[in-house]
Amino acid sequence: MKLFTVGPVEMFPDTLKMNAEQTPYFRTPEFSEIMLENEVLLKESVCAPKNAKVVFLTASGTAAMEAAVINCFTPDDKLLVIQGGRFGKRFGDICRIHKIPFDEVTLSFGETLTKERLAPYRKNDYKGLLVNIHETSTGQLYDINMLSEFCRENKMYLIVDAIGAYGADEINFETQNIDVLIVSSQKALALSPGASMIVVSERLYRERVVLIQSGSFYLDFKQHIDNLKRGQTPFTPAVGIFLTLNQRLKQMRQIGMEEIRKDMHSLACRFRQEVVRLGFLVPEYPLSNALTPIAADPHAERLYQKLKEEYGMIVTPSGGELRKILVRVGHLGNVKWDDYEELLTAIDQVKHGF
Ligand SMILES: *Cc1c(COP(=O)(O)O)cnc(C)c1O
Repeated sequence: MKLFTVGPVEMFPDTLKMNAEQTPYFRTPEFSEIMLENEVLLKESVCAPKNAKVVFLTASGTAAMEAAVINCFTPDDKLLVIQGGRFGKRFGDICRIHKIPFDEVTLSFGETLTKERLAPYRKNDYKGLLVNIHETSTGQLYDINMLSEFCRENKMYLIVDAIGAYGADEINFETQNIDVLIVSSQKALALSPGASMIVVSERLYRERVVLIQSGSFYLDFKQHIDNLKRGQTPFTPAVGIFLTLNQRLKQMRQIGMEEIRKDMHSLACRFRQEVVRLGFLVPEYPLSNALTPIAADPHAERLYQKLKEEYGMIVTPSGGELRKILVRVGHLGNVKWDDYEELLTAIDQVKHGF
């Protein structure tokens, strides 16, 4: 079985080895030291300044999205949400359930987010922008510099769900003026699912987080940030995942984030060329390096099934209205060009049965 998914993904040998080990007790100076190092390494990996805060949550990415919204905003604020797929829609659902007013920039499938689409939302006293910078349901990578400029001009906090982009696309917390950045364990980090990391700017922490009653016990940032001063979390963390995170962050630092991104970019480009050569369409909007969406209308579901059943290759199926239209091939984790050559051969063979 080979995973060409976007999370969980094929893990690296060091992670697999660590995952087989006994989980240690965690209220110890040794574990605190690892968590404090995780904080430093994570911030470094996204070019966040030393005074940025980090929250380590034991929860999937959606909890981190919800936590970001409720710790930074209240029903007295108004937000703008980029809604270009399932994850954008999720931000809207989170605002709705917490009664935080919002407007959506809704993109139809295939549409690129442009400055023109944003223009009508200028000067609207929004407090913040919520965006999944790589909308993983379609593969579209939004222009972070354009969004960052929009937020600066309109005095909005910039909340970036980078779960699908971290380790795949360029992220610079400092120069891109990001206020909240969300990362999760099961995507490019290639760890077990269940842990999420949130980087919070000092400015947002001081101006909003410390003043706001989040209304949640488990997800309250203040408690997490206070505990992390001593390298601890308020509740039992996913100890095993945070240990593998430490190993993986060190490994990524050694290779270099830029190098990892470039390698993934060339692999993705090469794969896309071959997919087009096989007669498939790849959408024209800007793409993340994390995955290649393949338009296989109306055979997408069948393509996914056949690859799984006959070849043991798992690509990422789509949900909802894209179910029959799109499959997504991930480029995250321990996958090499050889694996993609095998996948391309399999795709070609399956295609002949359509
Ligand atoms: C994977 C992903 C999430 C996380 O979803 P969970 O299932 O809760 O882990 C959130 N946002 C984006 C953009 C993602 O790609």
